[in-house]
Amino acid sequence: MSARKPAGHMDQHPQNDCDAISYDPRFDEYAIPSGGALQLLSYCAFCGDRLPESKRERWFDQLEALGVKDPWRAELPAEYRSDAWWKAPAE
Ligand SMILES: [Zn+2]
Repeated sequence: MSARKPAGHMDQHPQNDCDAISYDPRFDEYAIPSGGALQLLSYCAFCGDRLPESKRERWFDQLEALGVKDPWRAELPAEYRSDAWWKAPAE
């Protein structure tokens, strides 16, 4: 199925179709839900490949540079609500 939400590296692992490992395209982050928190993964639990570096810091930095003080509450530019901001930076 290709109409799913973006799964990044996990696209190649059908064994993750139940989303045991979650992917956040905004930050390019892979994690395993652990209680109410998320345990970030640096390596793929299925094939051992190194996963991308989290882009969370850059996301905050860039939004701050845009004058967004509280990204969790503010109305964000569309590209910052998906992976568009780091895949195809507007400029
Ligand atoms: Zn993998």
